[in-house]
Parts: sequence; structure tokens; C-alpha cells
Amino acid sequence: MTSPEHTMVGILGAMALGLHTRFDWPVIAFAAVVSNVPDLDGLPLLYDMNLFESGHRVWCHNLLVIVATSALLGWTQFRFSWIQKIAAQLAKYLPSDVNLIPPSRPAQPANTPIPMTYWMLVGIGFQCLHLCCDMVVSGGRGLSDWQVKPFWPFLQTEYVYPLIPWGDIGPTVIMMAGIIGIA
Ligand SMILES: [Zn+2]
Repeated sequence: MTSPEHTMVGILGAMALGLHTRFDWPVIAFAAVVSNVPDLDGLPLLYDMNLFESGHRVWCHNLLVIVATSALLGWTQFRFSWIQKIAAQLAKYLPSDVNLIPPSRPAQPANTPIPMTYWMLVGIGFQCLHLCCDMVVSGGRGLSDWQVKPFWPFLQTEYVYPLIPWGDIGPTVIMMAGIIGIA
């Protein structure tokens, strides 16, 4: 899966779970961001193909790093509210009639803090969902299956269940239709 697809999985998954009705919009944005964190190990693609081949779907696609990054992102979001700050910065570059930050519903006042453990659990849950998506969307069209090692570096056991070939447009179209529907 590519970054836009992982982002849509985060948004749609969080909304399907009703997180926006319980905890308001920053949780949806947070889920969209953390859904992409495992693919940070794909950054060597920009400068070293060999490093990319050995590290992608390994270094950040495992439970150890998922828990560590979820704790870090969850704590910083709880402490500094970086989702809201980034949204406020982005809003400066949009037309004034575009409301990037929707008003909080009366039942969810903006000053009701979301517990730090909740942010961390959202991070862990949606990063684990990322691993599941990668296992299902894999191989096909002459490409070999690309296994995921969720227990690396402790265990080298690899998992893959290639149901959808990599690059298939189907999931993108379905999820995009969902995003347009929500919009
Ligand atoms: Zn991935």
C-alpha cells in the first residue's frame, strides 16, 4: 500500500470505530498520521536502494518500534497538541471560507483532554493495522511477496497473505469513494 492509501485506512478506520463522535476530529487526524509511521523505514529509497531493500518492511514494521513510536507520538500529542497546532498553521494558507478546524460539538468541549494512554492505544492499533494491510496487499504482477516481520529483532518469523496485488487500484477507488462520501 502507498501512503495515500494508508492515510485513508487511518481516517476511515477511525471514523468507522466512531472515534470522532467520542473524542472529536484530532483523533481522526492522529490516526491518519500514525497509519504511515511504519513506512518511515522506506525513506532510504531516496538515497540508497540497497539499504531500502534490507530495511523496508523490517525496521519500523515491528511491534517493538510500533509501541515505542506510539508512546512518543501519544505523549507529545497529549503534552503539546501538535495535531491542532499543525492544523492551525495549515489553515493560514487556505481560503478564509475553508474551515479546517471544525467547531467542537457541545457534547465534546475542546478543553476536555484526551488521556495520554488513549493516544498511545490509537497509535498502536493503527500501526498494527498498517502491518495487516501490508501483509494482504503484496506481490502479484511479477513481484515477489514481501513478508512482514512483526516480531523483529527478536524473531525472524515472516508473515504475508497476498490477497491483493501491489498497485491494484481497487482499494484506492473504494476508499476514495468513502472519503468523498464523508466530505
Ligand atoms: Zn508498510
